[in-house]
Amino acid sequence: MQQKEVIMRKITSIIVHCSDSPDSMDVGVTEINQWHLQQGWSGIGYHYVIRRNGDIEKGRADAEVGAHAMGNNHDSIGVCWIGRDQPGSAQWWELAILCADLMHAHGIAIHRVLGHNELHRVTKTCPNINMAELRALISVVHEFGPEGVEVEI
Ligand SMILES: [Zn+2]
Repeated sequence: MQQKEVIMRKITSIIVHCSDSPDSMDVGVTEINQWHLQQGWSGIGYHYVIRRNGDIEKGRADAEVGAHAMGNNHDSIGVCWIGRDQPGSAQWWELAILCADLMHAHGIAIHRVLGHNELHRVTKTCPNINMAELRALISVVHEFGPEGVEVEI
């Protein structure tokens, strides 16, 4: 079979979301894909999902335009943590590592790692986390790698 050629689009930002499902609900790409299909969309709109236990699941291919932030989809990657109130510690950590990896892969600057609610004309509270705190952690991971972060055990 001939391999389909995928042309990577120019990606300049990472947009962080939450699934707005109860923190006690353990769902992932399969369930979100169902929810988005029920909305009449062409399947999951995010490129990555971080489950409650920190597992990272792949949604859309990076080369494919997502469906997660109106007006901002063409040049961004959509990342979604599962929950609505508080990410778990492994989940928070994996979110930061994923963002740092994507910054490396696509040459994205830290100030272009944005919460959904930081976009223009967005009135939602999504992703319901402190983005300044997340960006601070991502910066350290990005510069020194995960080993460079002192983790309190
Ligand atoms: Zn969102």
